[in-house]
Amino acid sequence: MSKLLMIALPLLAFAANPPEWSRPFPPHRIAGHIYYVGTEDLGCYLITGKAGHILLNTGLEDSPAMIASSIEKLGFKLSDIKILLTNQAHFDHVAGLADMQKMTGAKVYATPPDAKLIESGGKADPSGFTNYKPTKVDRILNNGDIIRLGEIRLKTIHHFGHTPGSSSYETTVVENGKQLSFLMVNMGSVVMPLTSPGYPAIVTDFRATFAHQKTLHPDIWVATHGSQYNLKEKFRSKNFADAAGYQEAVVSFEKTFERQVKIELGQ
Ligand SMILES: [Zn+2]
Repeated sequence: MSKLLMIALPLLAFAANPPEWSRPFPPHRIAGHIYYVGTEDLGCYLITGKAGHILLNTGLEDSPAMIASSIEKLGFKLSDIKILLTNQAHFDHVAGLADMQKMTGAKVYATPPDAKLIESGGKADPSGFTNYKPTKVDRILNNGDIIRLGEIRLKTIHHFGHTPGSSSYETTVVENGKQLSFLMVNMGSVVMPLTSPGYPAIVTDFRATFAHQKTLHPDIWVATHGSQYNLKEKFRSKNFADAAGYQEAVVSFEKTFERQVKIELGQ
């Protein structure tokens, strides 16, 4: 066990959650048919359609009421949510899943490794610091799977590393008559330790994710934490188009990750 691990784990386990994770944030349309319904920092996204909606990420255990109120403020109905997704099965994005599933009756879709975490309530997480109410997963999402609901099409992209099954979702929106690519990305923010016996492929997975993320060129992108994509500034300026910012963010997360690899593994 590295010194870093011994310091990092107790911090993660006992530190209070950042207050911005639980503060409300104005719900808003980002572009096309996609809306922000998360907290001040926990990104939750409503992809709307005539045949029903998809909700991506459900925040902390106390987030569902806030998310529900944001959805209703925008004029949508909870009962129209048919599918629940997540970018990653850490507690700050799925601890609200069990309650949101009950509130909506929606089906839960997840990648194979994150389905294990979700169904175990986080106990299967190799990082060992996440736990929440378990939820049954109705459909497994393989890499490239297209999620369809009415006219909505979301492409599943496995971006493993941050959790064993973390993933991104890609779609197209129409804004001012123009078709724009829209990516809901799981950025590769580093998790420690990088030497977990429960996840031997972690470094390989992170590197494959960064390599793939650099090949993507979304016109608009959002992420699991508002702070990762400058939510506040973009909301203020009402300008969410940010192709260059996406590439910069990926490179910056990759640098931080490789620095941590050097520290922990000396490679
Ligand atoms: Zn996480």
